[in-house]
Amino acid sequence: MPVARTGEGLSAKAILAKLINFDTTSDKTNIPMACWIRDYLAGLGIESRMLPAENGIHTNLFATIGTTHTRGGIGLSGHMDVVPVTGQPWHTDPFTMVEIGSRLYGRGTADMKGFLACMLASVPYFQARSLRQPIHLIFSYDEEVGCTGVVPMIAEFGSSLPKPEIVIVGEPSMMTVVDGHKGGARFRTNVVGKDAHSSRPELGVGSIFVAADLIGELKHIEAGIQKAYPAPRFAPPFPTITVSFIEGGIAHNIIPPRCSFQWGVRLTPGFDAAEAADALQAYAERELLPKMRAVHPDCAVTTELLGLLPAFLSGEGSPATSLALKLAGQNAIHTVAYGTEASHFQAAGCSAVVCGPGDIAQAHQPNEFIEAAELDNCMAFLSRVGDWAAM
Ligand SMILES: [Zn+2]
Repeated sequence: MPVARTGEGLSAKAILAKLINFDTTSDKTNIPMACWIRDYLAGLGIESRMLPAENGIHTNLFATIGTTHTRGGIGLSGHMDVVPVTGQPWHTDPFTMVEIGSRLYGRGTADMKGFLACMLASVPYFQARSLRQPIHLIFSYDEEVGCTGVVPMIAEFGSSLPKPEIVIVGEPSMMTVVDGHKGGARFRTNVVGKDAHSSRPELGVGSIFVAADLIGELKHIEAGIQKAYPAPRFAPPFPTITVSFIEGGIAHNIIPPRCSFQWGVRLTPGFDAAEAADALQAYAERELLPKMRAVHPDCAVTTELLGLLPAFLSGEGSPATSLALKLAGQNAIHTVAYGTEASHFQAAGCSAVVCGPGDIAQAHQPNEFIEAAELDNCMAFLSRVGDWAAM
């Protein structure tokens, strides 16, 4: 194990330029970038642990500064992947950081390599303090495809990795303190009907008609949960349901035997998405399936869960929120419309908060940029994190 020492490090801007050079679009490998981070940390005497994904092209990375044998401490967390640039009208090469006026352009400058750069640039400062509790650096993959990559790393908390007591997720919030966001669940409902010639519809079960009934029922289910689960701090202030894909049908003269559709629920805290799926299934069993099975016994309606991000609500009095407010010198808490890995940290028992540099309005956009001053604000914030961990 390398001996910890204080190194020079690089500036946040220089590190950001380096990180932007790696095309870490979620479907590409992030291993070269993770290796660069590992080597940078090693150069400062910090050992890090790679946690490779089963697909062989992605990896998480975890490193600790300060005492490693204790539980607790503070985690700084960010994702290494970025969204695609395909079809976007970029004026500059998205994978080369370009400084124009006060802005730094490039894919991931705001979402969220800017925060990663500040984390890494702060390491020498953290090392120079005699930390009384550890600072953990947490780098994940596959955030942009549903916050999935961080999950296996969090599963190691408390066993092969220390579990931070507090986690700051540096998604772009203009360094304001975000203590809540909705979650999301994605489902696919599959309808199995019975084919027949369209001149004899009574011999078949049209799966698209059945899907239409189910989709209509989703509107009723939505109305019910909106009444049952109000959430005044979110916009809109209740859970919502949307239908996003539908496919089915073979030919104009065949009663369609199969139809499936994907739908999603935006979850407010306390609302379990399974309730919506169960209500849909109950409706199918009650109103649709008896008639369908009278025509053919194999007719079926099934719903599968495709992805789940729990809602996140830390609350004003939580350790993470009160610390972030204190260190940021602010007194207002906010909720946001986007989802983050904070949900998973909270579900694992860490107190989590979102606070990071850059504007979410820039995220996923062509010509994404971050104001250089945002990096400075984040560096000042992280220096106070170091001071706090040394207290
Ligand atoms: Zn992000």
